[in-house]
Amino acid sequence: MSSNEKIPVAVLGATGSVGQKFIELLANHPWFQIEEVAASERSAGKLYKDAVNWILASPLPKDIAGLTVKECEPNLKSKIVFSGLDSSVAGPIEEAFAKKGYVVVSNSKNHRMDKDVPLLVPEINADHLELVKTQNYNGGCIVTNPNCSTIGMVLALKPLADKFGLEAVNVVTMQALSGAGYPGVSSLDIIDNVIPFISGEEPKLETEPLKILGKFAKDHIEDENFKVSAQCNRVAVVDGHTECVQVKLKKKASIEEIKEAWLNFSAEPQKYNLPTAPVHPIYYFEEDKYPQPRIHRNIDKGMAVSIGRLREDPIFDYKFVILSHNTNRGAAGGALLCAELMKAKGLL
Ligand code: NAP
Repeated sequence: MSSNEKIPVAVLGATGSVGQKFIELLANHPWFQIEEVAASERSAGKLYKDAVNWILASPLPKDIAGLTVKECEPNLKSKIVFSGLDSSVAGPIEEAFAKKGYVVVSNSKNHRMDKDVPLLVPEINADHLELVKTQNYNGGCIVTNPNCSTIGMVLALKPLADKFGLEAVNVVTMQALSGAGYPGVSSLDIIDNVIPFISGEEPKLETEPLKILGKFAKDHIEDENFKVSAQCNRVAVVDGHTECVQVKLKKKASIEEIKEAWLNFSAEPQKYNLPTAPVHPIYYFEEDKYPQPRIHRNIDKGMAVSIGRLREDPIFDYKFVILSHNTNRGAAGGALLCAELMKAKGLL
């Protein structure tokens, strides 16, 4: 696709932690091209390079640096908008865009649990996209990406749910600082420390997986029936959420069968060869000391989940450790994959 055939897109919340990741990932995207960036009234009217505190390792793309930041009003030229808006404002803004006919792909929590909104992980519940046809947004729609910790966990759970069924899941997270946005947690709070609380996080991990792994039923999703218990901690890691997971399965499974289920897992994004799809959604490490965030968070474009330390559990059946990149797979990369799947299915 030449650059003038690419689909123009806008990023809402373009100056934030997720917004910057969108800009990085969209810089050389084969299908989409950023035409507009928007943020709060604090940033609107400024050149993007002056409004943003660019914190990514890759250089700020020159063509984006010179864009003037717009307000998050539904008068943009691009009909596809990626939202990395703060959740205190995302709800009504995203709805206003959808009502004006825009396709909104969002990272914010606000619409995730709406009955007619897909909570999409393209490898898991591509069929849930059918829900957009039941939305009443004058041709526009809202599609959401789950919470950043949920995404890594459900990718590990999906092959187990399909093969053995899930009865109960316990998860303890060690979540990266970039998950708190920018500037996020104060250095004096987190250096030499672990904070055993992330506001609103545990309820998301305990509810979102049930919808994601649920069944599409014409105009809603029937939640999957298993229990999740979550404890979430903030740790002094820049990117990459680590999660210690325990599972109780419905059917007996051996360690080898579980590993095989993970390693053979592949789904629609891989079948369509979507540009942002990981070649293998799941990587399994045999080394006891892996996975680790600093070493493994960028595997397969930061879109794969890394798993290790699978072993029997005396209370549940099995326990293991997972790692996934929170702003890539858990946010901007995940949302981009949703939009790519929508294009592949003729929904854009
Ligand atoms: P962030 O760094 O705080 O960025 C928030 C963005 O929202 C900024 O661009 C900000 O613009 C904009 N904004 C704030 N108030 C606004 C207003 N009144 N009108 C319009 N724009 C406004 O947050 P983040 O970490 O990128 O997170 C963005 C969303 O993604 C949140 O809902 C978060 O929960 C979700 N999420 C984050 C992660 C992650 O790993 N960080 C993962 C998954 C989901 P200004 O710069 O102009 O203030």
